Amino acid sequence: MPELKIAVIGAGVIGFTTALELKNAFRNANIEILADKFNTETTSSAAAGVFRPGTSFCGPTEEITRKWIEDSYYYWEHLCNTSEGAKAGVKQLSGYIFSSQYPHIVKNRYIEKLVPVYRAATSEELQLCPGNWKYGSFFITLLTECDLYLPWAIEKFINAGGKITGAKVESLETLGLNYDVVVNCTGLGARYLCNDHKVVPIRGQVYKVRAPWIKTFFYGDYDTYILPGFTNVTLGGCRQYESYNLDMDEYDARSIWHRCTSLVPSLAGAEIVAQRVGLRPHRSEVRLENEVKNINGRVVRIVHNYGHGGYGVTTAPGTSLHACKLVREAWSSNSKL
Ligand SMILES: Cc1cc2nc3c(=O)[nH]c(=O)nc-3n(C[C@H](O)[C@H](O)[C@H](O)COP(=O)(O)OP(=O)(O)OC[C@H]3O[C@@H](n4cnc5c(N)ncnc54)[C@H](O)[C@@H]3O)c2cc1C
Repeated sequence: MPELKIAVIGAGVIGFTTALELKNAFRNANIEILADKFNTETTSSAAAGVFRPGTSFCGPTEEITRKWIEDSYYYWEHLCNTSEGAKAGVKQLSGYIFSSQYPHIVKNRYIEKLVPVYRAATSEELQLCPGNWKYGSFFITLLTECDLYLPWAIEKFINAGGKITGAKVESLETLGLNYDVVVNCTGLGARYLCNDHKVVPIRGQVYKVRAPWIKTFFYGDYDTYILPGFTNVTLGGCRQYESYNLDMDEYDARSIWHRCTSLVPSLAGAEIVAQRVGLRPHRSEVRLENEVKNINGRVVRIVHNYGHGGYGVTTAPGTSLHACKLVREAWSSNSKL
């Protein structure tokens, strides 16, 4: 069998998770990651990284969406339980989601039966935080901190023989002429690279603060969240549809600070480490499919894996495993030519 040559475009959580899975699946393949942004420059780095898929996350069918989520959970759980878990930035954590108005906000049909504990909060627990909380749930889940995960993934990929190149890709088709398969993990970049207007940004802004006494996560009515990672606690948030603004907004910052310190007053004494803004690459349906193009009589094979919106850290492994299957299909049809 000739040596398989794959290009993965994108160095966020989707690109790296896909590239590592491809290295597992095709041990002798030449795999190269190409990207114009790495580590803290990516959207992935702004994420708190909590495993909690929301209702706007969508695959082609309910069954496939659930499979991606389940595969992802088991992947992160397995990594968490290995000796590399902490280095890779994966940990288990528990906490509460409260709502003052709607019972559905504290439910999560995707993970209620998947995570070790997902139960209604008791009346005492509803009093844990100031506010008029009528509904609540307690659950245990996982968190992947991308500021640890991405450097860990870079090292693992290079040690496995992978190659990383800093470059902006202007055309998938032109690039594809030099590879057997191109895997497109460009997140919001796919809007331009594929002229895909279904990909839209949902702007988010967060604080990263030092507050080592916060061990439990809290969500207040979904829009306000306090998520303790390894080094910092992420305070958020906002979701602004079709905003491309990558600058820090002072009013968002004040609103986030006010809401988070109202929910957990001890945060008023936290040291602010950083503020981050990111554009979540939302698509009505994640694009995970094969595309075959004919360029001047030559076949170019592309596997798309983008559009994970606000849930890319959660669902990176499940979608990456699916992308590997698509690469295998693309490669076997290639070999039959
Ligand atoms: C404030 C905030 C909080 C979040 N919290 C969570 C959370 O708790 N849990 C969760 O699951 N998700 C969360 N998310 C969502 C998560 O961050 C995204 O779903 C995820 O980062 C998407 O990953 P990605 O790899 O597709 O995109 P990115 O991280 O944006 O990576 C895209 C990569 O593609 C490269 N690229 C793009 N175009 C080109 C090109 N033409 N040529 C070369 N390279 C290119 C970029 O350089 C980059 O390396 C949050 C997001 C934000 C903004």
